[in-house]
Amino acid sequence: MIVMKFGGSSVANRGQIEKVLSIVDSARERAPVVVSSAHKGITDALVNAAKAAAAGELVTTPIDLQRQLLAQLECPVDLLDDCFGELSDLLRGISLVKELSPRSLDYVSSFGERMSVRAIADFFTRNGLAARAHDVWDLGFITDDAFGRARPLAGWEANCQAAFARLPANEVAVVTGFVGKNREGEITTVGRNGSDLTASLLGGALAAEEVQIWTDTDGVMTADPSVVDGARNIPQMRFDEAAELAYFGSRVLHPSTLLPAMSSDIPVRVLNTNRPAHPGTVIQKVAAPSPNAATSIAYKERQSVLVLRTTRMFGQAGFLARVFEILGRREVDVDMISTSEVSISLTSADRPALEAAADQLATIGKVELRHGKTILAVVGQHLPARPGIGAQVLGAVAGAGVNVEMISYGMDSINFTMLIDDADIGRAVKVLHEMLFAAV
Ligand code: ASP
Ligand code: MG
Repeated sequence: MIVMKFGGSSVANRGQIEKVLSIVDSARERAPVVVSSAHKGITDALVNAAKAAAAGELVTTPIDLQRQLLAQLECPVDLLDDCFGELSDLLRGISLVKELSPRSLDYVSSFGERMSVRAIADFFTRNGLAARAHDVWDLGFITDDAFGRARPLAGWEANCQAAFARLPANEVAVVTGFVGKNREGEITTVGRNGSDLTASLLGGALAAEEVQIWTDTDGVMTADPSVVDGARNIPQMRFDEAAELAYFGSRVLHPSTLLPAMSSDIPVRVLNTNRPAHPGTVIQKVAAPSPNAATSIAYKERQSVLVLRTTRMFGQAGFLARVFEILGRREVDVDMISTSEVSISLTSADRPALEAAADQLATIGKVELRHGKTILAVVGQHLPARPGIGAQVLGAVAGAGVNVEMISYGMDSINFTMLIDDADIGRAVKVLHEMLFAAV
């Protein structure tokens, strides 16, 4: 059995969905389970409609967009009337109370996947591939109550296996990504771009042979192809390398996707819906050594940095613990950190949380906040074995006139991380790509 996940751009319109049909059809003998995202743009339209409703305004954009898809796919016109009715009622309710809780936002957002799987399964069936749409919560995906970042409850796998065992073997299951339900039956979501995560969780629970993530690039690339012309495909990488890349902003995989696959040791293959013959990238426990000094470059922009300076830190046990206790209480998610005897610099993407913590940290030292920063990471399993790589990286970046404000590189680390200005991303990535991946 394999899990095949298709992202929003892969199911954006009829042309794309026809490609998906032929990809799934040619995998028939591997017993595919399809996990789909909402059609491209629908989730954003739903979120905007929910926000508009909370401001007292009713918009029909998501329903209009979905109706266009139904027309393109020649689905029965009333196929999604139940969804449309429920969504309209829900938006009306929100517009009356003028309040949008995380719970209602998840409920509204869930319609994208619920509608897309129904349209896709109907289209497949009418075009020669018997398929059935499923809401993933009917297949055992019962989550905690963390709206917007829900995770399945411990032990859910047994229910999931039992539910799949009951499905007819002659129909391809087309399953909603992204959504779930809690024990009370309220709809939750695992977080934006979370269909990858649903796919790898299902893959883990069902002990799939492989989890395939179908997207719109030739697998994972050495750098963002929209920034670097010469960006190339990476044929193989290790789980930990891919996890670092996903975390540092490579747009191909959701950062949490690899955890379930890693713990069940199931290979994750990233493939291109527009070029199905391309082998893409396979991510697994061991990967053949790459000929380059690094595996890939990724970056995360719009970060904030906080610098705390105090002479009280000098020679004081427990000082860092106090700082992190304050950050923890304000729920600051810290990414990079670097310390000296008298100062700590740390970064976070969550500006409001960092600002809240800054007020409190000001009671123990002098605090400075700066915004508009990018974390730039060079990732590769061979970094620890390449003496001088740090100097080369910094030299190349400096040569491009880019100022590096912080660096972080741990013992045996597979990533070398720098903090630069958002405005310098293009220059820095290009020069690093040139140096690390110059044509072999
Ligand atoms: N449709 C959801 C989103 O746009 C989930 C996904 O695409 O993976 O965030
Ligand atoms: Mg997506």
